[in-house]
Amino acid sequence: MENLDVLIPRPQSIIADPGVVKVESLGSVSAPAGWERIGGQLIRNAGIMGLDLTQEGVPVKLILSEDIKVESFEITISPDEVIISGGDPAGLFYGAGAFEQLLCISVIRGTKGAEIPCGKVADSPRFGYRGFMLDSARHIQSVETIKSVLSLMAKLRLNVFHWHLCDSQGYRAESKLFPELNTLADMTPGFFTAEEIKEICDFAAECFITVIPEIEMPGHSKGLLALHPELACDPEEPGKEFCLAKPEVREFLEKLIAEFAALFPASKVIHLGGDEAETEHWEKCPACQKLMKDKGLSNLRQLENDFMNDMASYVRSLGLTPVTWFTGSIMEHSTIIQAWRSIHELKETLAHGNRMIFSVHDQLYLDYPCTAAEPFENWMPLLCESGVYNTEPFAAWEKEIGDLLLGPETCLWTETVPDHRIFAKLLPRLIAFSETAWCRPAQKDWFSYIRRKDVLSAGAWFDMKAL
Ligand SMILES: [Zn+2]
Repeated sequence: MENLDVLIPRPQSIIADPGVVKVESLGSVSAPAGWERIGGQLIRNAGIMGLDLTQEGVPVKLILSEDIKVESFEITISPDEVIISGGDPAGLFYGAGAFEQLLCISVIRGTKGAEIPCGKVADSPRFGYRGFMLDSARHIQSVETIKSVLSLMAKLRLNVFHWHLCDSQGYRAESKLFPELNTLADMTPGFFTAEEIKEICDFAAECFITVIPEIEMPGHSKGLLALHPELACDPEEPGKEFCLAKPEVREFLEKLIAEFAALFPASKVIHLGGDEAETEHWEKCPACQKLMKDKGLSNLRQLENDFMNDMASYVRSLGLTPVTWFTGSIMEHSTIIQAWRSIHELKETLAHGNRMIFSVHDQLYLDYPCTAAEPFENWMPLLCESGVYNTEPFAAWEKEIGDLLLGPETCLWTETVPDHRIFAKLLPRLIAFSETAWCRPAQKDWFSYIRRKDVLSAGAWFDMKAL
């Protein structure tokens, strides 16, 4: 290995020192009390590369340091020791992962004589929110596939798993209150039991990934309303949208939200969907029209907004923070807004002071084809790897937006993506996204990225399970 500029995501600072350390001489891994598993993981993954870090050798010390920021790390490599310091356990986990990348590249041509140059790498994330959304409502995935996705996310230092579990085609979280919802199977049958959800959430926590589960309303509800037509404006023709005026709709959804949220005890944020509802049924519904007039609202979008704000305040009453997709509505200040149609949605939200997530579709929707050789729907634009890489979540108004933008999130909708195609859609674009989410613009360079990705691919880094 010629120098340390081989990592993905690319570090903020790399300082070269004279000398090298032979990787076959490394051993004696030590980790802070309570975080031995991070050291254990380093030993295990080095073992896959043919290195024995359990031997007596040049020590590899994992330490926590109060001088380093959260999620941040430093790696100091000298001929007689390697020190990996993290500002917190997540930073230590990322630091160990970055060191594994160095090991992996050093042994591409075999372990014999393999060496890493001495120097210091220091890194910290640009955004605290680095998200990936998986749609499990259209095509469901196996628990194993989802754990592999989480494992890949962890290697790329992505830290939020937004889990879309409810849509017209399926309700994928076990419901004991309304078990009929779990019979929905428009594209694929199945749902996640409470035990499976716990298994996935526990695995995510080990990867330092937060889970944000999503339950969708008032649109995208065709399947639910086919089972509960009494909750639609017109039970004869239920359509896709809940009636906004019937008190039993709110009662039903509040019970469902409470049950859903209880499946995710570690999640402090719940996504309520809120996108793409059509007004056609509300237009014809006397109850919706009456409620609109009674509330003094001038149009049905305002009635929808009022409904979503009520649902969001119910979420807050459970001690949780709501998120909704951007709809053009004005949501109460503490609701997080996810922009998806255009960058202008961030600008509009900025005026109201809500926190935001950047997921603009033509830059970050991974169901879109990466190359023209893939199968895709006619309406989908091409979204190649460099398109995802060159996405800039701020455009030109970084100063105005400040901390209100939590960070970017890339999304994989699965109408056209069954379980076995998940990784074909994620790779390589999720790798490109990791630099969009983690690196500051000054660190980003497409040609450097391609070179680093090629080297890491030669070491099979992206194919190797991280946990
Ligand atoms: Zn109605």
